[in-house]
Amino acid sequence: MQNTNVAYDSKVEGEVIVTQADAVINWIRKHSVWPMPMGLACCAIELMAAGGARFDISRFGMEVMRFSPRQADCMIVAGTVTYKMAEVVRRIYEQMAEPKWVVAMGACASTGGMYRSYATLQGVDRIVPVDVYISGCPPRPEALLDAMIKLQDKIGRERSVKNLTARNAEPAEAELAGAGKES
Ligand code: SF4
Repeated sequence: MQNTNVAYDSKVEGEVIVTQADAVINWIRKHSVWPMPMGLACCAIELMAAGGARFDISRFGMEVMRFSPRQADCMIVAGTVTYKMAEVVRRIYEQMAEPKWVVAMGACASTGGMYRSYATLQGVDRIVPVDVYISGCPPRPEALLDAMIKLQDKIGRERSVKNLTARNAEPAEAELAGAGKES
């Protein structure tokens, strides 16, 4: 599969590499994921450990944790999402620029975990689209790294150019629909 993305013959093409736009865009994106650490409870400690020297998330180009949603493209929801925080999580997600991804880290973020209570959202996927779920309470830092590698695989399979075209077309379509209503 990988071999179909790049075709290179130095004798014929010299310094030129022929490839697909999707392959290049996805390769760049998946090796420069900037996480937004949405640490809400104890799972956040495991997330912090992943950034330390022992687990060293920077091996995957993901150590640039950004606390501004405008500079992040992957929200790692680490911890229990209460209804009180759910609105904030959703707002920060909406402030992140496209393309963006979400990882639900741990039982609480994935399903509400042991908190079957009136105060707890039963899974962050009720308010934001989740790309990768991590099981465990708490999941180990290695589990987070495994999830991030899975996310890289997913990013590598995206139809980036097509998605970009579709997103650009959306406002125009919405505008046309709005114009139709006015007339
Ligand atoms: S899954 Fe366990 S460790 Fe993680 S936030 Fe919930 S209770 Fe804490």
